[in-house]
Parts: sequence; structure tokens; C-alpha cells
Amino acid sequence: MTTNHNKKSIRKEIYVTSLLFGLLFVGMIAYFIRFLIVDADSFIYNSYNSRFSVFADDVERGSIYTADGRTIAKTTRNDKGEEVRVYPDERLFSHVVGYVGHGMAGLEANYSFDLLKSHITLSDQINNSLTGKKSMGDSLYTTLDYDTQKAAYEGLGMFDGAVIAIDPDTGKIVAMVSKPDYNPNTIDKYWDDINDSKKGNSALLNRATNGSYPPGSTFKIVTTLAYLRDGNAPSDFSYKCNGRFDVDDYAIHCSGNKSHGQEDLSEAFANSCNSAYAYMGGQIDREKFKSTAEDLLFNDKLPTMLEGTKASSFSIDSSTKESIVAQTAIGQGKTTVSPLHMCMLVAAIANNGELMEPYMVDRIVSDDNKVVRETEPVSYGPLMDANEAYLLNQYMEAVVAEGTAKNVDFGDLKVYGKTGTAEYTENKKITHSWFVGYAQDEYGKKLAIAVIMEGAGYGSKYAAPLASNVFKAYFGN
Ligand SMILES: [Zn+2]
Repeated sequence: MTTNHNKKSIRKEIYVTSLLFGLLFVGMIAYFIRFLIVDADSFIYNSYNSRFSVFADDVERGSIYTADGRTIAKTTRNDKGEEVRVYPDERLFSHVVGYVGHGMAGLEANYSFDLLKSHITLSDQINNSLTGKKSMGDSLYTTLDYDTQKAAYEGLGMFDGAVIAIDPDTGKIVAMVSKPDYNPNTIDKYWDDINDSKKGNSALLNRATNGSYPPGSTFKIVTTLAYLRDGNAPSDFSYKCNGRFDVDDYAIHCSGNKSHGQEDLSEAFANSCNSAYAYMGGQIDREKFKSTAEDLLFNDKLPTMLEGTKASSFSIDSSTKESIVAQTAIGQGKTTVSPLHMCMLVAAIANNGELMEPYMVDRIVSDDNKVVRETEPVSYGPLMDANEAYLLNQYMEAVVAEGTAKNVDFGDLKVYGKTGTAEYTENKKITHSWFVGYAQDEYGKKLAIAVIMEGAGYGSKYAAPLASNVFKAYFGN
């Protein structure tokens, strides 16, 4: 017979047992959540070895894709069943995607946390954990366009240098190439060679974001703006070029010793007349020159979502010799820039003066196709006002219509640009080939670009045709 008292005690036992099981279950879930969500961060941040480290025991590193869905990094298994990171296009995306092995670089390093974190449903993750299966990490969808990247890569060919292309309306990086490069698939095997600075090949350096180059005549964009900001109207400028400009016993020559004759501002810019710009440099208040360069992001960290980019440098003050000011005005002297910086500058000109901060990861997606995080374009604000951008657009249009880039075949695209041929040794015959500018199609879609080919020679002969091929790949004609 059960008494009331007994019934009560049984109910109490059931209650206590349920509570215990309940607590145990909650504890177990809490443990999993803590492990999956909280500890994951510290595990991943501590992970810096080639075998994907502790946390990778539970999550398989996610893939990296181009904007058009091509796989550019993924995890597979070798015949021993070990995980191997594979880069199907080998060198094509090397500095962009980076590598895992001997530490990490590129997107692999900066997004390691996301790639080793899984956002598939919690029940699937727990299920995987209990059955000893790995959960699939999240994937990155970059802003890179496969064909555009390929055109940039092939365009550089055997030359060292860099190409970077940005959508001016959003800041999306569409292509980024740096050479010399490396094959991320075999980084372990050839590490000592690749990383040997004595050999001077610096293949690990991403020249697009961290190169320090003399800007050459591409800098005439900055000089022009400084001249205008120093209280001059465009029509104030007039110069008669006889092929050279003398200052402090120093002679600055026009390219090929050509005499450009009488020029207005637009003609001097389109002809890339060194004499006119050396003269112009001396007319600009030095403080104004410096503040204009700094308004255009010199001597400061670049506003971009990319990590570890190199600042460009510009220096002129009251003690600077006139001959140095003249050289600075034509992009020689001590000024250095990165291709990324020059690309940002022309992207802002293309976007009525407003700079959109460059970025390369569009979204992070879980293995079951949920968007975990998406990048919204960010405006840095104006680098210049719309009227200044309008004038520079006109001058860059003249470069292509009647100036140094008039013989370059840009197809049906409307192109605005500036060529550059930058001296970087005492031997003035060896020069870097530059092109910066942007193209626009009939629908108003734009692409800004900066190209530098080390030691290649005239910008109009090498860098500008390369830019044209990249534009054609992007716009699909
Ligand atoms: Zn000239």
C-alpha cells in the first residue's frame, strides 16, 4: 500500500532526479557553448602553426572564394587522411589569400578566426562533436573578380611590381597582384628560399599595399591640386616649355627632351610636362603643398579595412632646396607612395571627391549558407570637393584624349588617367612604369586602377596597356 507520505516522497525523488538531469543537461550545453563560442577565440588566436593547431581539431578551416564564386583556398585531405590547405590557382592570388604554414599571411591570417569558427546550427555542431566529426568552418567571399585578377597577373608578366583595382563607388577591391610572388601550396618546402632577404627577392612583400615607390608623374595630380588650393584658378597657369627647367644649377628635362611649347594647365598635365610642373612647384606655398599632400593621405595611415598597409611619405618645408621642391613637384625627390594609395586617390576623383574605404571581404558565410557577417561600404568622406574632382577628371581625360596615353587602345571604355615614368636609380634610363586612373562603361560602372611595373620604362608603353587589359577583363569586352 502506498501512503500519501510515500507518494509525496516518490514525487520528491522524481523531482530531484529530473532537476539533476536537467542541471546536467544545461551544464553540458553550457560546456559546449563555452567551448564552441568562447574558448574558440582564444584557441584560434593562439593558433600559429602549420597543422592548424588545437581548435582545428574540431573545426575544418573554411574556404575562400572570389566574388564570382571561384574557390581560391580550401581544405582537402591527403592519402594519409591529413588535412591539407590547397590553393587551386597557385600564384594567382598569393599575396591576397596568403598562406598557412610558417605562420600565416594575407586573408588566411587576418580572417583565421572566422575560417576556424563554425556557424552551422548548434545541434549539428554538438552532433559532430559527439560523433568525433569536424564541423565545417565559415567561408569568406571576397570582392575579387577572377578574370580581372587574371588579367592583372598576366599583364605584369615577368615584371616585378603591383596592380590594384578598386570599385570607386563602394571601395571593393576587385584585383590585387604583387610580384615577385610565391606558390602558397609549397610555402613550407621553399620557405628558406622565399624568406631569404639576402637574396633580395622579397617575394613575401605585398607591393600593392606595402610597396614604397617614387610616384613619378602620377604625382602631378597632387601638385595640380596644391596649385589650385594655393589660390590659383586653372586659367592662371601658363608656361612655355623649351624642354628643360633649370633651378639651383640643376636641370629638369621633359621626357625625351621634348619641347612642349606654350601650355595651359590641362595641356601641361596631359603632356606630363616636367618643365611646367617643376616651375609650378616653385610657385606653390610650401605649407600649402604639404597640407594638400596630407589631405590626400600622405604621412598617415591609409583609411582602409585592409590590415598593415604602408603609409606614403611626403616632406617639404621652408629649408628644402628649390631644386628638391622642383623634383618633388614632378614626383621625384623623397616622396614615396604605395600603389594602394594612388588607387585610392584616383578612386576618389572618380567618385566626385568622396573616398570609399577599400575592403576585400564581402561576407562571411556558414557551411549551411547563412550569412554570418556582411561588409557595408564605408565612406571616409571627401578627399577633395566636387569641383576639384571635376577639374582633375578633365585633365585626366585629356591625358587619354590627346596626351601621353593617346595611343593606348582602351576599346569603347571612357578612360581617365595619368601615366608616370619614375626614376629610382642614378641611372635615369632605368625607370618604373606607372599608370593610375579609371574607366567607366556606358552604364556608369567604374573601375579605378594603379599599375606599377618595376624597371619597365615609359608608363604609356607598359603600364597603361596593362591597365587597358584589366579594364577590358572587368567590363567584359
Ligand atoms: Zn615640357
